[in-house]
Amino acid sequence: MNKLKKFIASRYGVDTLNEFLLIGSLVLSVLQWISQRSGKVRLAQFISTFALTFAVSFLFRALSKNYPVRRLENQKFESFTWPVRKKMRGKQDSKQFTYFTCPNCHHSLRAPKNLGKIKVTCNFCKHKFETRT
Ligand SMILES: [Zn+2]
Repeated sequence: MNKLKKFIASRYGVDTLNEFLLIGSLVLSVLQWISQRSGKVRLAQFISTFALTFAVSFLFRALSKNYPVRRLENQKFESFTWPVRKKMRGKQDSKQFTYFTCPNCHHSLRAPKNLGKIKVTCNFCKHKFETRT
């Protein structure tokens, strides 16, 4: 049991990109099942290739020990999908928070609105800077 815990603790695990890959592979599996059942065998095969690619990438990343590269991949994914994720967070969130990017690593950060001038420490690169909310 301890060995298993150690094994998992030393691996990269789940981040935003991996959540996406896992959910993606599950959604694709369902789509594959639907097209299989409606007789679209070619489409099902096509989708299953993607589902498998997603699942394998998920496992590969979750069990990886190469943290810097995985973090970089996740960062790229997060900044790429930021406009979509920002919309999905809804209006409530945007009423309460101001969004800005770290001048050092360009990661998206947020802080409660109307605090005036605040000192921010970036969650990702620990860069310190001042901003207004
Ligand atoms: Zn930063």
